[in-house]
Amino acid sequence: MIDFSYSELQDNVRQMVHWFAENEVRPIALAADRTHRIPDEFIRKVKEIGLSMGPVPKEVGGEGGGAGEKKDKKGTRQNNRLSVIGAEEMAWGDPAVILCLPGPGLGGPPVNIMGTKEQKERFLGIFTRPEPLWGAYGLTEPGAGSDVAGIRTTAVKDGDHYLLNGTKCFITNGARASWVVVFATVDRSKGRAGHRAFMVEKGTPGFSVGKLEEKMGLRASETAELVLDNVRVHQDNLLGGEAYYEGKEGFMGAMKTFDSTRPMVAAMAVGIARAAYERAVEFAKEHFELGRPIGRYHYVQELLARSKRRIDASRLLVYRAAWMADAELPNAKEASMSKAYAARTAVEVLSDVVQVMGAAGVVHDHFVEKWFRDIKVYDIFEGTGEIQRIVISKRILKDLKSF
Ligand SMILES: Cc1cc2nc3c(=O)[nH]c(=O)nc-3n(C[C@H](O)[C@H](O)[C@H](O)COP(=O)(O)OP(=O)(O)OC[C@H]3O[C@@H](n4cnc5c(N)ncnc54)[C@H](O)[C@@H]3O)c2cc1C
Repeated sequence: MIDFSYSELQDNVRQMVHWFAENEVRPIALAADRTHRIPDEFIRKVKEIGLSMGPVPKEVGGEGGGAGEKKDKKGTRQNNRLSVIGAEEMAWGDPAVILCLPGPGLGGPPVNIMGTKEQKERFLGIFTRPEPLWGAYGLTEPGAGSDVAGIRTTAVKDGDHYLLNGTKCFITNGARASWVVVFATVDRSKGRAGHRAFMVEKGTPGFSVGKLEEKMGLRASETAELVLDNVRVHQDNLLGGEAYYEGKEGFMGAMKTFDSTRPMVAAMAVGIARAAYERAVEFAKEHFELGRPIGRYHYVQELLARSKRRIDASRLLVYRAAWMADAELPNAKEASMSKAYAARTAVEVLSDVVQVMGAAGVVHDHFVEKWFRDIKVYDIFEGTGEIQRIVISKRILKDLKSF
């Protein structure tokens, strides 16, 4: 009924990205964590081999997600499946470095979903240039994290322009991005129907970077506060144009982004958990206590077996959600299931791996200590675990009127 094998293309992508992760990403990851920066030389290499954070569509001159425009045997596109396969391998290399890769990033999906042809050319076309460039996604605000509907950044029409005022926080690549998709409200009393998405370009007067966060994990990845103080953007920067917003399109565009990105984030969590689990297996074979490798002890075996079965189960949820996105089937529930399960699993696997490794698991010169710090955020960003469970249960109970 179901074929669990990779196609030739999927396997090539998996092997190519794995090679890169092992030979180019791992060697820079510990230093990047300590210095909070990625070497320019590494970014140049990433650009040269054509790796990008988020696909650049073919219609604007990009590759459409690597070789992603090639369809599978059944004629279904496979961009999302190739992305999750690649994301697992890159995160296996390092979960922070992957977030620093140039490309539209989380900002790409809203432009693709809501943008006009001209906006796609203008804002996604830049990623075909030889220099490394970044895009970003600005939704979260102080006081509006999980409560997306509660954003307070305002957009007031002024002739052909809008004036934006507010603060966005925790924005990945926010300081280095050439543009940020900024979600704002034109009328708070309208709730979600007041939401609009604006393309705000770096260097626009009044648009500045506040603080850069010092984080527990993912320290190589830039997380910025962005301040909008009377930022004047032309109406051409309103994604989709004014006619696009009849109802809750702005809010829905922000949410639809997650249908493709949550499986990606879940895949990264699988990659980190797998990397840690593999290290624990090696450790269990080479580390002796009471004259035996610790892998001979039942409790260690149980921790490893539990990790392995939950990592594999996570990956299956990820592949299903990605396949549904490729097949253009509604997948919000499945995307949230993959994210909720994989992120939680990865947090628990990392805890178990540190336990198996004892003191060796908590010292700075081992990846496991770093991954333990890195993984927690995967259960927080792109919607916390609790929010994923709400998304899932709302869809399960959609006929229950009082919900
Ligand atoms: C490293 C990093 C990178 C990020 N990158 C971006 C980015 O690029 N762009 C962007 O826009 N945002 C980004 N974020 C923000 C991220 O999406 C938010 O942190 C996340 O949505 C949670 O919001 P919050 O931190 O305000 O927590 P809160 O929403 O305040 O949640 C606090 C706690 O309350 C729980 N909670 C909240 N509401 C409910 C509810 N209704 N029911 C049950 N429990 C609830 C939460 O699950 C959580 O446990 C990033 C965050 C981090 C840490």
